[in-house]
Amino acid sequence: MAKRALVTGAGGFIGHHLVTYLKQQGYWVRGADLKRPEFTPADADEFLQVDLRRWEHCLAATKGVDEVYALAADMGGMGFISSHHAEILHNNSLINIHTLDAARENGVKRYLYTSSACIYPEFKQTETNVTPLREEDAYPAMPQDAYGWEKLVTERLCTHYREDYGIETRIVRFHNIFGPLGTWEGGREKAPAAMCRKIAIAKLTGHPEIEIWGDGLQTRSFCMIDDCVIGICKLMNSDYHEPLNLGQDRMVTIDQLADIVAHAANFKITKKHVPGPQGVRGRNSDNTRLRQVLGWEPKISLEDGLARTYKWIENQVRERIRLNGEGAFRSAS
Ligand code: NAD
Repeated sequence: MAKRALVTGAGGFIGHHLVTYLKQQGYWVRGADLKRPEFTPADADEFLQVDLRRWEHCLAATKGVDEVYALAADMGGMGFISSHHAEILHNNSLINIHTLDAARENGVKRYLYTSSACIYPEFKQTETNVTPLREEDAYPAMPQDAYGWEKLVTERLCTHYREDYGIETRIVRFHNIFGPLGTWEGGREKAPAAMCRKIAIAKLTGHPEIEIWGDGLQTRSFCMIDDCVIGICKLMNSDYHEPLNLGQDRMVTIDQLADIVAHAANFKITKKHVPGPQGVRGRNSDNTRLRQVLGWEPKISLEDGLARTYKWIENQVRERIRLNGEGAFRSAS
């Protein structure tokens, strides 16, 4: 019989891709989210539009499934995360406490929680040429924002539910996942999507100057969504229950990210560095444990992933200009 899975956050970027991937692996899948996916229909067998801050909705969503992939979160890029601390801590705490407890109540066997590189202490990420972060670097704890603190507490909750109640929990720490079908405007988009949008607008309107938050020397690693969903499923099926990094370990500056996108766009840009939220100064993933535990690591190059993402976002921008004219983006870039 097909395994039955619940994906929470199935209306969001990673959740939507994960539903498709699980269907391809032969699962019966229920999606749950406040909203349906924005750009293409969900492949889920069943889709519940529910508010997972509410216990009774979590109970309905986790009923009759073998596995839960917990992705629902109130989240966004640095601009959002650094300016909505109370809302994020409140909403995400309720979502995760209720989803995990409802899963236990319904006898779910396996539960995968999606944590983040944002749990790592700020004091280990003060240089652009930062030492890649190992899983044990999480402690002593000092995440930069409420978003990271909540993730860290829910990691502990998963560990204690496994120890005290026997539910098999898995904990993955994503490092900047990107790809097509993700939010690309509106304030919740993350750096790769924002960069693709800015460069697509520059190209299609013929104004080559793009704004970059900060001095452009801050560093990150970026992982393509196709690799991310493979990693999620490998971890869920493993017997490893400690937190595990999932990301690329190639670090680039934000200026380099812009250059790679501009190359994909085949368009020459000029960069204007402006004040804006940047998050930590540098961050990279140490993938030593990922390779040991899963015998695998992300494979898709940044150039390849960004080319595919840029193409999708350029089409979104072109369609918007066709419908609303260039004025649609005058204040958004
Ligand atoms: P996303 O914002 O696209 O998806 C999250 C989904 O959760 C949204 O569709 C949203 O509607 C839903 N949601 C929010 N509140 C809800 C509620 N009360 N009830 C039901 N659904 C609700 O984000 P994403 O990029 O797909 O991220 C998925 C998970 O991975 C999140 O937990 C996020 O914190 C984590 N993560 C993502 C990244 C990344 O680079 N994208 C990095 C680190 C961690």
